[in-house]
Amino acid sequence: MTKLEDHIPEKRIFPKGDVNRYVSCWTEKDVLGGEVVDALVVILRTSGCSWARKKGCTMCGYFNDCHPDADGENILHQFRKAMEKSNGQTMLKVFTSGSFLDEREIPRETRAGILDMASERFKQVIVETRPQYVSEESLKESVAQVAGLQVALGLESANDMVLKHSINKGFTYEDYLKATKIIRRSGATVKTYLLLKPPFLTENEAITDAVNTASQIKDITDVISLNPVNVQKGTLVERLWRRGEYRPPWLWSVVRIIEECQDLDPRIISSPTGGGKRRGAHNCHECDEDVLKGIAEYSLGQRNDFGDLECECRERWMDTLDLQGFTQSSIDIQRYYG
Ligand code: SF4
Ligand SMILES: [Zn+2]
Repeated sequence: MTKLEDHIPEKRIFPKGDVNRYVSCWTEKDVLGGEVVDALVVILRTSGCSWARKKGCTMCGYFNDCHPDADGENILHQFRKAMEKSNGQTMLKVFTSGSFLDEREIPRETRAGILDMASERFKQVIVETRPQYVSEESLKESVAQVAGLQVALGLESANDMVLKHSINKGFTYEDYLKATKIIRRSGATVKTYLLLKPPFLTENEAITDAVNTASQIKDITDVISLNPVNVQKGTLVERLWRRGEYRPPWLWSVVRIIEECQDLDPRIISSPTGGGKRRGAHNCHECDEDVLKGIAEYSLGQRNDFGDLECECRERWMDTLDLQGFTQSSIDIQRYYG
């Protein structure tokens, strides 16, 4: 029997881009302590995710932004460059295309250098990592440097079947739980990313999975961020999408999940990457902008419901929920039947 990983394309990391240049850096809005603040986002070009080298997750194309030769010096240089864009933002999100706490990706002294620079400028610093790199030692050192440290974990789903057979995540819900305990004991806070619509799930199953996961982790995490899949280059999801066997999630599904989780504390936030585009979460394209705006406003605490949003495509979305349940398949029905 073939395994899921047999179908995941190899993720070869080619030298791409300037090894001394970060991937991207921008300022966006976020919420801290109930207030809307500016957050500087920096994506560093590193040698990449250790898991991606073993084929990695079915939807992940971050390996496209890596450079095999990126060492600690290069990464520090990139970060210094990015700091030229810091001008009073309250929050810093520093992402790699892998794990900030993996010392093969970011050497310990580089990590310390980055956190040292960040601690002088920002109240909260968010870094992302796979659970296996969370240790008492790394957390103790990091929290000593940055009091407002938040560690983000891409759990995606609390269902081990989904993690294994749909995402090929390479860790279990239990691994996530262990990491959150270490993070909390260290004094840092936890942010959890959920994935909306991993491959092979119907739209309805994906909604249910996200809602179940959110309610399962509500007492464990400080922030829940919903990431709808966007179709990234060189991934299994892209192969399925090209064959009409995958459609990125509807924005109505994001709205439905938020509505179903409205009473949860923490509330779900979402900022769909590539939202409104063919490869990202979208509706009919006519209403995408309004719905994305609504989701952004909700995430910033500026609206509490979506009652004012309507579009004729909502009916089509509801048909999809019914039809995919009937066919028990996640194929993109509308691509075949219009
Ligand atoms: S999603 Fe995260 S853990 Fe999975 S391959 Fe990509 S970077 Fe690695
Ligand atoms: Zn529409």
